[in-house]
Amino acid sequence: MAKAVRAVRCPTCGKDVEWKPENRFRPFCSERCKQIDLGAWASEAYRVPSAPPDAELPDAPAPAEPPARRR
Ligand SMILES: [Zn+2]
Repeated sequence: MAKAVRAVRCPTCGKDVEWKPENRFRPFCSERCKQIDLGAWASEAYRVPSAPPDAELPDAPAPAEPPARRR
């Protein structure tokens, strides 16, 4: 009986990858695919801000001069 080698599919390119300890990049087929996937994940996370920055909030209009006193 042949020793079964578990195979997974590279998430980046879809290539069959043997799941074995020698494969440092599993479940990816290569370091390149691993980097691509991690990079995609990082950029995707960056692209979704939790909240929009409020840098454009207008300042409350300050009174140019104090209310005129009536004499
Ligand atoms: Zn791959």
